[in-house]
Amino acid sequence: MDAQDIRRAYLDMLVADGHAIVERAPIVLRDDPTTLFTGSGMQPLLPYLLGADHPAGARLADVQPCMRAQDMDEVGDNRHTTFFEMLGNWSLGDYDKAEQIPRLFAFLVDTVGLDPDRIYVSCFIGDPVHGIPRDEQSAAIWERLFTERGVSADRVDLGTEEYGDEHGSNGARIAFYGHKNWWSRFGGPDEMPAGDPGGPDSEVFYYFPQVEHDPAFGRRPHQNSDGGQYLEIGNSVFMTYRKEPDGGFAELPRHNVDFGGGLERIAAASIDSPDVYRISLVWPIIERLQEVSGKSYDDATESMRVVADHIRGAAFLASDGVEPGNSRQGYVMRRLVRRALRFGLDLELTAGVAADLVPIVGKLYADVYPEVAEQEERIVAVLQKEERQFARTLRKGLSLLRRLNRQGETVTGEHLFELHDTFGMPLELSLEEAARKDYPLAPDWCATFDALMTEQQNRSRAAGAAAAHPTR
Ligand code: ATP
Ligand code: MG
Repeated sequence: MDAQDIRRAYLDMLVADGHAIVERAPIVLRDDPTTLFTGSGMQPLLPYLLGADHPAGARLADVQPCMRAQDMDEVGDNRHTTFFEMLGNWSLGDYDKAEQIPRLFAFLVDTVGLDPDRIYVSCFIGDPVHGIPRDEQSAAIWERLFTERGVSADRVDLGTEEYGDEHGSNGARIAFYGHKNWWSRFGGPDEMPAGDPGGPDSEVFYYFPQVEHDPAFGRRPHQNSDGGQYLEIGNSVFMTYRKEPDGGFAELPRHNVDFGGGLERIAAASIDSPDVYRISLVWPIIERLQEVSGKSYDDATESMRVVADHIRGAAFLASDGVEPGNSRQGYVMRRLVRRALRFGLDLELTAGVAADLVPIVGKLYADVYPEVAEQEERIVAVLQKEERQFARTLRKGLSLLRRLNRQGETVTGEHLFELHDTFGMPLELSLEEAARKDYPLAPDWCATFDALMTEQQNRSRAAGAAAAHPTR
């Protein structure tokens, strides 16, 4: 099944099972000062998960386009993209794990066609200190489902990821972890304020035997290791408990379910690819990059991934009205476009690729998010303007860094400020460049950079005030 079919089949299944499809939220959140983007399907539905009645009922589903700026530095690996779609379904006090887990399993195996023998899961190990039991119910449901398909379902207790990295899961189907399998808005049971809901979650992974475990991520592989063999494709959260004023946990009168699954990752599993860039929603962008650069994806994997992801993400932000700038969403977009240009240099692309790639993105999403195709010209213009501005100074900035290194100088806060201020290099990009090339940083770079930034902001504020009160 390709990604587009998976998206459709998922919603069809949930409608058939009595779910209302809710309208997805925009990617850009304008009225929420605490966060810049919608980063999960749960986020817009949180008020209902916390107790409000939803007008569409107690069984809900959607596909939510998400943006995770916090994953930008991970882009280049085989499974993180800044923009992705999350398949979601929710029960607001209606059904529980006994309905959620079997439906998800049947979807993955019977509809998407995944091999049940390559599906692995994790469950909550329990927290005796807070009196929260081990999630035996989820484990028992998984065990039954695997056994019915003739697949072994042994268990292992790992507790922490560190323990897992050392000992591995040795092929156990069901791995038990602590905090990694606990959901609340605030972290582990200790961090939760009284009155807040939380509960165990159960993650699903797909196993790729063709990937060699990378020991940089721990001695042995296990479900939650970042070594590349296990790809997390979805997570069901069971909101079951409420923290009490005495620090203990009581069962909520209504249990909720929140499921989030990565469309790109499920689609990758369905074509037996550990690399999400090979799926039908992304590969045409990579193909175009191969054409314009004359290089092959196999030789320039990381750079092509970054350029493809960032231009796709920036196109979606532009379709939601964001323009590159120096704060909030605008700054994320600026970083995306500028980072794409930097990695484009590795492909020997001297100019931007927005004009080449945006129309492809528009076509790929025309059926579900027509706004990109509809605004293609404007989006290309917004991205190109940013590309052109930065292309003029990027090389100079990079050569400044090279020169410092040749002269044996460390990169100081002053240099980083100059790179930002004169050459338009976002701080993160300069730091990344220094790290990639092993350029040493002055120990106090951060304090110096911050001080110079504050000084500059004060100067521009004073200039702004003078302009607003010209008689003063
Ligand atoms: P990971 O540990 O791999 O970063 P996560 O724990 O951050 O994943 P969740 O917050 O549980 O993921 O999100 C639910 C699902 O969304 C994941 O199971 C995964 O399939 C998908 N997902 C999360 N982050 C990304 C991303 N950056 N790119 C693509 N898919 C993602
Ligand atoms: Mg993550």
